[in-house]
Amino acid sequence: MNTMKKSVDLLILHASELITLQGFSEKPAIGEEMKKLQIIKDGAVAIENGRIVDVGKSSEMTEKYTAEEIILAKNKVVLPSFIDSHTHLIFAGSREEELTLKLEGVGYLEILKRGGGILKTVRETRKASIDDLVKEGKIRLDTMLKHGVTTVEAKSGYGLNVEDEIKMLEAYKKLDEQHVVDVIPTLLAAHAIPEEYKDDPDSYVNIIIEEIIPKVAERKLAKFNDVFVEKNVFTIEQGRRILLAGKEYGLIPKIHADEIHCLGGAELAAEVGAISADHLARASDNGIKMLAEKGVIGVLLPTAPMVLMDYTFPDARKMIKTGVPIAIASDFNPNCWVENLQVPMFMATYFLKMTPAEVITAVTINAAHAIGLAHEIGSISVGKKADIVILDIPTHYWLNYKFGVNLVNIVIKNGRIVVEEGKIKE
Ligand SMILES: [Zn+2]
Repeated sequence: MNTMKKSVDLLILHASELITLQGFSEKPAIGEEMKKLQIIKDGAVAIENGRIVDVGKSSEMTEKYTAEEIILAKNKVVLPSFIDSHTHLIFAGSREEELTLKLEGVGYLEILKRGGGILKTVRETRKASIDDLVKEGKIRLDTMLKHGVTTVEAKSGYGLNVEDEIKMLEAYKKLDEQHVVDVIPTLLAAHAIPEEYKDDPDSYVNIIIEEIIPKVAERKLAKFNDVFVEKNVFTIEQGRRILLAGKEYGLIPKIHADEIHCLGGAELAAEVGAISADHLARASDNGIKMLAEKGVIGVLLPTAPMVLMDYTFPDARKMIKTGVPIAIASDFNPNCWVENLQVPMFMATYFLKMTPAEVITAVTINAAHAIGLAHEIGSISVGKKADIVILDIPTHYWLNYKFGVNLVNIVIKNGRIVVEEGKIKE
């Protein structure tokens, strides 16, 4: 054939498996669908102006396209790059001394009572400048990117007052502008009761509702509004008030639900129309049923029970069977310093009994749904952003079978190669 080939910016050819995950952009994958990766063997992708313009078999795509830059992905798996849909990305300081306390049997809520945990990070974050926070954030995003993540949801929650919650969200805005990884901001003013309100938590709830939410919404600093509903933190009733108040201002609800105690967080997520309910280690059967009925994404964080050392993992099998769309995320925070999403991914297989295919769905298209971006990212579909990762494994069955090393060979963000051979390209 001698017809003119169309020239594109970038062509990926001969992927042993091209995992497209097409068909779930409108609605997340549930139940058996979570195993349907929509694989093209010897697959190819054409990229132009940062977007995916064609997808198909290499034999057909080489007839149609030529490109200045061609990646040969022989013996490699090509899939949508990873989305970390639950992180507490920026904070000041660190809490390595708490690891020893935990090993001595001191629980998370006890550490919090002693003024440690979140409250220690709050004291340090209040002292930090926006630039300090951005600087730390960049280092973390670089590592996340090297491990295949190109979009990160990131929560505030270490300011716990008007000024410092806004400072954190301003830092996320700067970080998003300055770093190739997309940062999707969530207001989590309801992360803990600040020390100065420990005897009057309702007054702090009022500040969140009357001051923080309106100011954050007015300055468009957050897309989501999140609450940590937990014993000694925020009650169901306080959570409901905060989430409904946020909704009035266009902030989409998310919940830290049923992590350490079963308080009905999953039920609340379904009731208020949350986009996701996160953690769910102790969600009730009724809560799980309600999440499935309302299509709320269950964002599961397998590192959390591990760092809490209570080892009660969410029942992913039951949730998948019931029809809850599942995402897997890192829960990166000062109590869980994991910058490599492949760690929770392999934990999801060994502790939540999720297959490699289900895990892939949970960190791509379903994670995109958890942050309201499934129309833009999460699958290799024509028109979507060319956010793609190439893994150095011959089939997706090797994911989580081979673990403990970075499987990433190449990361493409907005159609540009940004990581190659484990290094960030300048
Ligand atoms: Zn969290």
